[in-house]
Amino acid sequence: MTAKDVDVLLVGGGVMSATLGMLLKQLDPNMTITLVERLDHVAHESTDGWNNAGTGHAGYCELNYTPESDDGNITINRALSINANFEVTLQFWSYLVEQKILPAPSKFINPTAHQSFVWGEKDVAFLRKRHELLSAHHLFAEMQYSESAEQLAEWMPLVMQQRQDGQPVAATRVEHGSDVDFGSLTRNMVSHLTTQDNFDLHLSHAVKSLRKGKNGRWRVIVKDEQSGEEKTFSAGFVFLGAGGGSLPLLQKSNIEESQGYGGFPVSGQWLVCKKPEIVQQHHSKVYGKAPVGAPPMSVPHLDTRIINGKPALLFGPFAGFTTKFLKKGSVFDLFSSVKPYNVAPMMAVGRDNMDLTRYLISESFQSHSNRVASLRNFFPDAKEEDWTLQNAGMRVQIIKKDAKGHGKLEFGTEIVAAKDGSLAALLGASPGASTAVQAMIDVLERCFSGRMATPQWQARMKELVPSYGQSLVDDAELLRTVRERTLTTLELRRD
Ligand SMILES: Cc1cc2nc3c(=O)[nH]c(=O)nc-3n(C[C@H](O)[C@H](O)[C@H](O)COP(=O)(O)OP(=O)(O)OC[C@H]3O[C@@H](n4cnc5c(N)ncnc54)[C@H](O)[C@@H]3O)c2cc1C
Repeated sequence: MTAKDVDVLLVGGGVMSATLGMLLKQLDPNMTITLVERLDHVAHESTDGWNNAGTGHAGYCELNYTPESDDGNITINRALSINANFEVTLQFWSYLVEQKILPAPSKFINPTAHQSFVWGEKDVAFLRKRHELLSAHHLFAEMQYSESAEQLAEWMPLVMQQRQDGQPVAATRVEHGSDVDFGSLTRNMVSHLTTQDNFDLHLSHAVKSLRKGKNGRWRVIVKDEQSGEEKTFSAGFVFLGAGGGSLPLLQKSNIEESQGYGGFPVSGQWLVCKKPEIVQQHHSKVYGKAPVGAPPMSVPHLDTRIINGKPALLFGPFAGFTTKFLKKGSVFDLFSSVKPYNVAPMMAVGRDNMDLTRYLISESFQSHSNRVASLRNFFPDAKEEDWTLQNAGMRVQIIKKDAKGHGKLEFGTEIVAAKDGSLAALLGASPGASTAVQAMIDVLERCFSGRMATPQWQARMKELVPSYGQSLVDDAELLRTVRERTLTTLELRRD
């Protein structure tokens, strides 16, 4: 079978491939790029608006990004780097809005204050200290803190209604937080790409196998899911942006760097309320503390969401046990991913995380009343009949060998790249879509290092992301100018 030659093959039509495609086309409009997506739409897995929480993760409200050690020390480094990475994302989106490549910001990002809310003396003390540490840094200088019930009632009326009098409560608030419809963003990016020369989109096409040829190019077999016909691509570079499907494809690539990786899938569900009289009483994201024993991705939060322009409230996520790697995947995904080289780390993770597995199974079987009872920690007046359960996307957490060769479960995102730079895969799901731009810049630096070093690409990167090559964590003045532009262009300032 003759193969179609392309410079770049993007596998999967989620936010990651779309972002990488946009960056590459901005850097070199002549590059030939093909995107293949197994479903008949792009952005219908984790990237879809209802499949994720749409939090523009900036470390403002997510308490798990500032862990507290047993001796009471709070570490803020992760929150600083996530915040700086989100600023990189906001800069690229600002550029695309200014160039009219993306539509009006409200079609995909909306200002939504980010708040953390805690109750009880111990957690109030934690939040007070967290605020002291974060607000001393320029990235978080605008974070407000209060222990006053009256102030909190103004910030989050639904949360404070009918709350027990005299209970210690505290909250932090950052006005310029955001709610992002990553589905809309991605559909807009892909629809722009399809208007460009040398870009092809193949929907309902699934990658079945990939093999590195002697000529150094990847031979990729793709099946048309509607006609059953097979096509072959010969690609100089392959990006596996297949979400939960990236791990099985990485295993098929057989690159040395894939050895030892496994996946631990976690499903998710939300309670959703679309009743206008309730929705209009809440205009923020309110994050709490994860219950003891719960994994970091099940930190509960009550959020305003704006999806396809329509406001709604979302509470969750309720994590659950699954063996599927994709929402529209197979129950055999987990078992098929067990290979001789990862069986030991996977078994070790299974053994060491029995509590987590038990927790996920018990979460899966919770009743509607139990779920609404958790919601009442955030919205004491919630009524069961106003909320419905909706399935979210899948997160495949990374299992990898640690230094001693044992298995370790990780909750972050990781890029695994072949050392010759001909293939890269994105594994993991947190902080996820918010850091897509920085993650894809990392792919460019590792896999297109020669071209990224040229004066042309360096200059172009500075136009796309003005802070490129500098540190927003260290440079307060740079952050000030960057944030001034992004908040204005993306209309993220609340009146
Ligand atoms: C419950 C939940 C809440 C989240 N909340 C947030 C949040 O608040 N903020 C945030 O920033 N991030 C959040 N995330 C993470 C975020 O959604 C993901 O990191 C991001 O959407 C991943 O994008 P992706 O492009 O890698 O994968 P996906 O969006 O999953 O896209 C992968 C695509 O690849 C396709 N595919 C798979 N296999 C193949 C194949 N063999 N051939 C061709 N195509 C294939 C799939 O059909 C899919 O369309 C959340 C995720 C979940 C599940």
